Amino acid sequence: MAYDQDNIFAKILRGDVASHKIYEDNDTFSFLDVMPQSKGHALVIPKAPSENILTADTMSLGPLMTTVQLIARAAMEAFQADGITIQQFNQPAGGQTVFHTHFHVLPRFEGVGLKAHSAVMEDQDVLEQLAEAYKGVLDNI
Ligand code: AMP
Repeated sequence: MAYDQDNIFAKILRGDVASHKIYEDNDTFSFLDVMPQSKGHALVIPKAPSENILTADTMSLGPLMTTVQLIARAAMEAFQADGITIQQFNQPAGGQTVFHTHFHVLPRFEGVGLKAHSAVMEDQDVLEQLAEAYKGVLDNI
């Protein structure tokens, strides 16, 4: 599968589509999932184009995982989470729906299950508040 320059995450990286950005560095970008499966569900993506982990440049994975850990730690503090689930899907058979490499960071709370994948759009106001909560923590790291 060739990388599609017009996939939604490529458009977000170019600034052609708005996102609730929570973090950015030279190699990676993180923003909120618009159809969250848990409170504070975030996505972490490399800036370099690749469809998924099967084709990503191996050297890009170190910085990517560093940001995954950063966002996971920030989520624990921002939302007083009890734990974090990390998910990463590859190819349609693997559950992938957007073909730019990404990790899901899912804050978890005792007794609360995950909502369905890519199912219900969250209110923009709620996403904005959640993004601010992340940034409040990340700005102090
Ligand atoms: P996957 O199925 O692992 O490829 O996950 C793609 C994720 O992207 C899903 O959880 C969607 O809810 C999410 N998503 C799709 N479009 C957007 C968007 N414009 N902004 C933020 N998240 C999105």
